[in-house]
Amino acid sequence: MTKVHNFSAGPSILPREVVEATIEGIRDFAGTGLSILEVSHRSKEFVAVVEETQAIIKELMNLPEGYEVIFLGGGASMQFLMLAYNLLETKAAYTKTGVWAANAIKEAKAFGEINVIGSSEDKNYSYIPKGYEIPSDVDYFHCTSNNTIYGTQMKSFPDSPVPLVCDMSSDILSREVDASKFSLIYAGAQKNMGPAGVTVVIIKKDILGKVSRKIPSIMNYALHIEKESMFNTPPVISIFSMLQNLKYIKKVGGVKEMQRKSEERAALLYAEIDSNPLFRGSVAVEDRSNMNACFVLEDETLEEKFNSAWKAAGISGIKGHRSAGGYRASMYNALPLESVQVLVDVMRNFNK
Ligand SMILES: *Cc1c(COP(=O)(O)O)cnc(C)c1O
Repeated sequence: MTKVHNFSAGPSILPREVVEATIEGIRDFAGTGLSILEVSHRSKEFVAVVEETQAIIKELMNLPEGYEVIFLGGGASMQFLMLAYNLLETKAAYTKTGVWAANAIKEAKAFGEINVIGSSEDKNYSYIPKGYEIPSDVDYFHCTSNNTIYGTQMKSFPDSPVPLVCDMSSDILSREVDASKFSLIYAGAQKNMGPAGVTVVIIKKDILGKVSRKIPSIMNYALHIEKESMFNTPPVISIFSMLQNLKYIKKVGGVKEMQRKSEERAALLYAEIDSNPLFRGSVAVEDRSNMNACFVLEDETLEEKFNSAWKAAGISGIKGHRSAGGYRASMYNALPLESVQVLVDVMRNFNK
């Protein structure tokens, strides 16, 4: 097999040893003689997996006391409505920074009044809105830390007078954040944490129980916390595989090391985008994402030639999202610097 450089936006690259550890669990899970595909989620061996996964997330993210970690199905998209179900009594504030943020707003509107206090829709989501004020009379403020489709990233988080809720799907565990600033963090696992199928929800417990509506059981954070993610059958294999990846991250140096690597990858690629006359970055320089680098060809007629060049180098998954166009190189935690170097070499040679 020739080496594939996997820049996929999600599901995305995992370290080979995580894939191997998952395969091993499929063969024989924890010495049970059973495959992880066929064990009860209530078996003591799998309950131990859930507990270890919670503990390692708390450790990697340096979560203070009072935070709970649960594992749910339904993707980050289900959280768009679930968080509103649980937290929105009358009004909430949102920033609208991309397709995912817009979807979150759309779903929450069913539960109350949504105040969009910052938006970059006017310029096709090519920057992060700044200078907005978070009202103190809303139930929470929701933001998206990294806009996967457009390639913008919040470089800092506001001090919020109300609970801060964040969709961190595409940059969780890629940089150190002060978790104590947030009341709720959620992330689909399939970008930086593991395979698709599980969503991690981190909740500061004291924000729950404040809405007057009746919350259906399956939508109720408090119930999932009480049942330790076993209210219904959780995505067993996804959690198992995610744990293998979290252990790997811890082993190689934790979030600090993930941040160092992501900065190194991003610096290498953006330097080429900025110095190569054939390419142009798609978003405001100060808001560039270290995870998803979006760029376009200055001359679109070169597209076919460029596509052939990167494909020939074994690069996979850099076509831009259908709603943004151009190119998007997703550089999640597991992407080796070497893969970025291959892309940079292709761009450089293409210019020559
Ligand atoms: C991918 C993504 C989503 C959607 O995740 P699903 O698990 O497919 O629902 C939501 N928000 C962000 C920021 C994403 O990158």
